Amino acid sequence: MSGLLAWSAVTALAANHPIGQLNVQSWAVGAVLATGAALLPDLDHPGSTISRTFGAISQGFSAGINALSSVVYRTTRLKKDSKRDGGHRGLTHTLIFAVFAAVFTTTVVQTSQKWALPVMMFLFAGLAVRGIMNDWCPRQDALWITLVSGGITWAMIAWTARTDASAAACGIAVGVGCVAHYVGDAITEQGCPMLWPIPIAGKTWFPVAPPKILRMKTGGVVEMAIVGPIVTILAVWLGLAALQNTGVLPFLRGFDLLPL
Ligand SMILES: [Zn+2]
Repeated sequence: MSGLLAWSAVTALAANHPIGQLNVQSWAVGAVLATGAALLPDLDHPGSTISRTFGAISQGFSAGINALSSVVYRTTRLKKDSKRDGGHRGLTHTLIFAVFAAVFTTTVVQTSQKWALPVMMFLFAGLAVRGIMNDWCPRQDALWITLVSGGITWAMIAWTARTDASAAACGIAVGVGCVAHYVGDAITEQGCPMLWPIPIAGKTWFPVAPPKILRMKTGGVVEMAIVGPIVTILAVWLGLAALQNTGVLPFLRGFDLLPL
């Protein structure tokens, strides 16, 4: 949901910029990509729910990312950095990764709109479905997720067939989704090393986090009863404002959703 909120906010607030003037199809493609991308960084944890999205295939991929992340952590940490393994909450939890993911997505979509975009849509729809339906159908879930994301991809591609999706918009969607994840980790966990490799207080993997009073427990009461609903309401509100920019919702024409 935080990925969707980030995408809605960027597209709604940038009304005077090309990213705020997408057609409705491009906006929807971006919404799926950003929602899925908000779970992408946790692919560095082979045991996480998200790594089981596509069964053994994604788990193997995740083990590879974990190993790479661990090597990068151990070779670039300073004396004051914690002695952890660094496979999880390492490389994929940095702004550099978000930029890399954005540029990579833009390049891939630019190179092959016809083939690459459906593949990306399928993978990110899988992550999005997995994220939203966490405990859903646990036994055959990889199969179910594959089917549901296949359906979403097919529907999106059929719908967008006549317009070109903007490759840059796809990249931005993936980038902001990743950043939404970092913010979520920073306020729920022991911080997020998003500024790597800038040394702060003698640490290249400095865990960026707000003061303790502004942090909450993962899955705790504050997250479920307060932050979750607020994020959802903001995502819907800003999503409507962004869709209003696309001109697809004529019944909203008279309303000023963003009185700024
Ligand atoms: Zn994370």
